[in-house]
Amino acid sequence: VERIVTEGIVLRTIACGDADRIVTLFTSDLGRISAFAAHARKSRRRFAGALDPFTAVRVALVQRRGETWRLDSAEVIDSVPEIRGDLALIARAGYAVELVRELCRDQEPHVDLYRSLSGFLVQLARSPSSPTDLLRFEVQALGEVGLSPRLTACAVCETPTSAGDGFDPAQGGIVCRRCATRPLRPLHGGARLLAELQSAPPPDARSQTPENAADAPARAEARQALEEFLDYHVGVRLRSARFMRDVGVE
Ligand SMILES: [Zn+2]
Repeated sequence: VERIVTEGIVLRTIACGDADRIVTLFTSDLGRISAFAAHARKSRRRFAGALDPFTAVRVALVQRRGETWRLDSAEVIDSVPEIRGDLALIARAGYAVELVRELCRDQEPHVDLYRSLSGFLVQLARSPSSPTDLLRFEVQALGEVGLSPRLTACAVCETPTSAGDGFDPAQGGIVCRRCATRPLRPLHGGARLLAELQSAPPPDARSQTPENAADAPARAEARQALEEFLDYHVGVRLRSARFMRDVGVE
């Protein structure tokens, strides 16, 4: 029997039968794992609030040979209550946790991505939230799992990016007009924005990225490029992206 105590963030919790739950955690030591939380539905006290999405928890996990992990105990470190009362924050946090769930495989540790996700959720909860912060989290999360899009130069011929270049996920990112293998929508501010965010320093919970309404078209372009990139490289269109659009949140 293996027993591990680690920190994690709740990515998702689903009901299992009448009494139990299955919780997907992103842990600092093991990466993404799913664990069986027995009696979590009947006994509210046992895991009191510790299985809600976005919650940072300290967990004890037990695994018998060849079996799934069992959640032995879970203690709340930070329940980020500020997020739960605000639809825009719920939408952005939901996007971030779904993204991490899709980018990782079970039991592949990603320490940098773990720090990024906890930092992003704390920043979301404790400082005025901005849509640019979510784009930064996303483009850096891709880098942390080895899927950085090429943004500063043509992915094929390395010519520095210029106006009118397109974005082609199949070729790895920005491509110039000469290297494009199919007609591409030219990118305007979106490529520059993503390139800046890709190398931006980690977010600081006390500061925020200044937001400019005039940048909204660039952000929309950046968001669409990342959606196409995820679809091509990970084979997924995030449900939370649709939710964000439905509720009018960037
Ligand atoms: Zn080129």
